[in-house]
Amino acid sequence: MDEDRTKGKLFVISGPSGAGKGTIVSRVREDLGPNRAVLSISMTTRGPRPGEEDGKQYFFVTKEDFCKKIQEGGLLEYAEVYGNYYGTPRSYVMENIENGRDVILEIDIQGALNVKKAFPEGILIFVAPPSLSVLRDRLTGRNTDAEDVIRLRLSKAVSELSHIPAYDYLIINDVLEEAVKKTESIFISEHMRVSESRMGRLMAEYEGE
Ligand code: ADP
Ligand code: 5GP
Repeated sequence: MDEDRTKGKLFVISGPSGAGKGTIVSRVREDLGPNRAVLSISMTTRGPRPGEEDGKQYFFVTKEDFCKKIQEGGLLEYAEVYGNYYGTPRSYVMENIENGRDVILEIDIQGALNVKKAFPEGILIFVAPPSLSVLRDRLTGRNTDAEDVIRLRLSKAVSELSHIPAYDYLIINDVLEEAVKKTESIFISEHMRVSESRMGRLMAEYEGE
């Protein structure tokens, strides 16, 4: 009764590459406990990087399969990012929400804005670095991207920040522990919203006294 878990909620996390989205999301999921929040696995036309497995980081598909999925209405949103297509399979999101589990989408800004159109109840969270020099250090420190890719991602970061006003929440990821706590508080508070089902259960409780 102290929270509304009849249905899960859709949380969309975006922000510049290297801002710390992946790190925060994995900590939040760990802290919230198993089965509270699931991570949606996107479909992409890009090839797997070394160490990536089909069905784990992404579902790797051909452009034809991706187009077929769009035509069937099987994607909640999709976008072209750095020359490849990425999309969110609709059925996984809907099934988990129906079963009371929160779903997290870690997607780019175009995707987040499209989710808000298709699914206005979705909660949009933007993760930003405290400064561009910190972002540069994180991208370099992560050791996954070449120097020219880092330059491209840094220049893209500035234009990405201009979309913050379309989001519901802004997390500035300076001290990790703090950013994790703040993000968790959003997940918790969103289930404290006044709803008919919570009111109904509260009234039934009072009437039973
Ligand atoms: P994203 O998913 O947004 O691309 P990552 O989660 O991969 O970013 O984080 C980028 C790098 O920065 C990783 O090496 C991660 O360990 C590091 N990192 C993330 N958050 C912090 C933080 N608050 N302080 C210091 N390093 C961080
Ligand atoms: P990468 O190829 O580095 O894994 O991801 C590139 C970009 O694609 C990232 O900004 C990531 O957030 C975005 N992305 C991953 N999955 C999806 C998705 O399903 N939809 C959209 N719109 N973007 C996605």
